[in-house]
Amino acid sequence: MKRLPFRQVHLDFHTSGLIEGIGEDFDKKEFQRALKNGRVESITLFSKCHHGWSYHPSKANRIHPHLNFDLLGQQLEACNELGVRAPVYISAGIDEKEAVAHPEWLLRNADESTEWVPDFTGAPGFHILCFNTSYMPVLLAQIHEVMELYHPEEIFLDIASVKPCLCAACRAEMLALGDDPRDTDAVTHQAERVFTRYAQSVREAVRAHSENCAIFHNGGHITRGRRDLAAWDSHFELESLPTGGWGYNHFPMSAAYVAGLGKEYLGMTGKFHTTWGEFGGFKHPNALRYETGLSLAFGAKCSIGDQLHPRGAMNPDTYALIGAAYAEVEEKEPYCEDAELLYDVGILGQEAVSGGASDRDMSFDGDTGANRIMLEGGYLYRFLDLESDFAACKLIILPDTIRMTEELASRLRDYMAAGGELLATGKSGMAIDSDMFLLPLGAKAAGQAQSIPSYLLPGFALTTGNSPHVMYEPCEIIEPAGGKVFARCADSYFNRDTYRFCSHLHTPNKPGNGRPAACFTSNAAYIGWQVFTDYAKKGSLHCKELVIYAVDSLLAGSKTATASLPDRGVFTVTRQASKNRYVMHLLFAHTTLRGAFRYTGQEKLVEVIEDIVPLYDTRLQLRTDKYVRRVYLAPQIEELGFAVKDGLCTFTVPRWKCHQMIVVEL
Ligand SMILES: [Zn+2]
Repeated sequence: MKRLPFRQVHLDFHTSGLIEGIGEDFDKKEFQRALKNGRVESITLFSKCHHGWSYHPSKANRIHPHLNFDLLGQQLEACNELGVRAPVYISAGIDEKEAVAHPEWLLRNADESTEWVPDFTGAPGFHILCFNTSYMPVLLAQIHEVMELYHPEEIFLDIASVKPCLCAACRAEMLALGDDPRDTDAVTHQAERVFTRYAQSVREAVRAHSENCAIFHNGGHITRGRRDLAAWDSHFELESLPTGGWGYNHFPMSAAYVAGLGKEYLGMTGKFHTTWGEFGGFKHPNALRYETGLSLAFGAKCSIGDQLHPRGAMNPDTYALIGAAYAEVEEKEPYCEDAELLYDVGILGQEAVSGGASDRDMSFDGDTGANRIMLEGGYLYRFLDLESDFAACKLIILPDTIRMTEELASRLRDYMAAGGELLATGKSGMAIDSDMFLLPLGAKAAGQAQSIPSYLLPGFALTTGNSPHVMYEPCEIIEPAGGKVFARCADSYFNRDTYRFCSHLHTPNKPGNGRPAACFTSNAAYIGWQVFTDYAKKGSLHCKELVIYAVDSLLAGSKTATASLPDRGVFTVTRQASKNRYVMHLLFAHTTLRGAFRYTGQEKLVEVIEDIVPLYDTRLQLRTDKYVRRVYLAPQIEELGFAVKDGLCTFTVPRWKCHQMIVVEL
């Protein structure tokens, strides 16, 4: 397969049938000028939108009622002349004209309500269809037609993921198979059956016309732990609009997982102030510079979402905005092609072990907290699943809720016996059916603290001192069995309720030395609190420092690389093996919470990047036993002085901003 281009645009074109004059301002030269100004190498164009209309003459679908020429064909011709790649978009899970004509094709929740959007006014918007209905042959005919007419290099199918459904067809199938539609696990199995049939038949439809056309099914999230679902995709487009409800931490978390799946991936952001469909919404150019830099830093190619005006003219301001970011990407590409994202720490989190087909709105607080602490602590990390090679990690983190099957415990014991290090917190490391540790953590479980919240009595120095620090999540008490205790848990006087409370929040710590709650062995640490969940929900500094103390103690002397950065800084290291060099990435932008909007029934916060503030004297270290030939800033090609001692190459970047690469050539 050809390599994916670095600079892509996803050009939404969901256009109401009530709007006239569709495509009337389309002008091939103008369209091409926009692509050139935007330095765009690939643009995803619409065959069919969420409203259900096609943007080309069609026998398998209905052309938009106010379009009277082959808009897609002309857009493709314009791209072809420039050598711009053009994946074709087909809305799979949403086709609003069919939803209205065939309410029996709608996806139904257990209470028979329909899915997707209460829009921002609170009124219903698009509806999701079920692939287990007679909609499926309609969709397949549309795919066949697009393949025949346009021979695209990629088909992008949107709103395509495992979605539990209890429509008449799904209920009937479950009952016929002897499954109980009241059983949520059985409903999930049904949804997976339906998705698998959908993906299989889409693949057959595409392959009937092309051996190598790429296929991507977009569900807004690549579920950790479900390689069987990811296997349907030729590559991954990580939809993650930081201001559209995903936030700035979602993309790193997503990329830190798919980097281990052996396929290419894109980071997909948007040009909007908020999210998809925001006509007239623009983010600051610095935000796009940062977001595309973030994609590169995590080994991804870039994609920026835009929406075309119904009249078909590209917005010149948008392509100036995109061009500003993509001019920088273009210069950075030589340092990012075939770059492997390095890691010391592997996180085996709840989403990956739960085995479910999660969507982006599902929250796994332990995973979220671990991701944030890894980012803010400047660690090199990946998210793992049960198929990952544990031996490739220096340290594995089991956040908060990772209970052990005998099989998993045995793999982790082997990993530890071979010298691998492990940090477990909360219930992690305990058996599925009892609070007994199945891993050698140097401690026995001794019940749960009655107090919630309880208090951390640290056996090490926190930034804020050594006094009792409040911990909001439950805590497991331990009895040391060879391990060295580094934190104790103090109860409060009593838990707060209606008849017994103290002050505005919780009761203070009861005096005393508390009980053991965290310990070390030579290659493991255990922390009794569900500290990652606590950090995800509340973000207290001492929670982060408790984890960092444990991780740094374990990784002492073995980290691949470090950088001195503020909490909002991002640090990654990639290796370009063919060029025999490391590329270190520094990113920094401060974000401001600026507003909120409602989307798919949920409140989403808008976190804005405007100003780029330089950072000074960032000190980096890279561990290498090879001879270091050169260290320089890229893409500027400015040499940096460096020193090598005891296998550590050390250097300082005097001043940098937004996204800076440093190349270490061996
Ligand atoms: Zn159904």
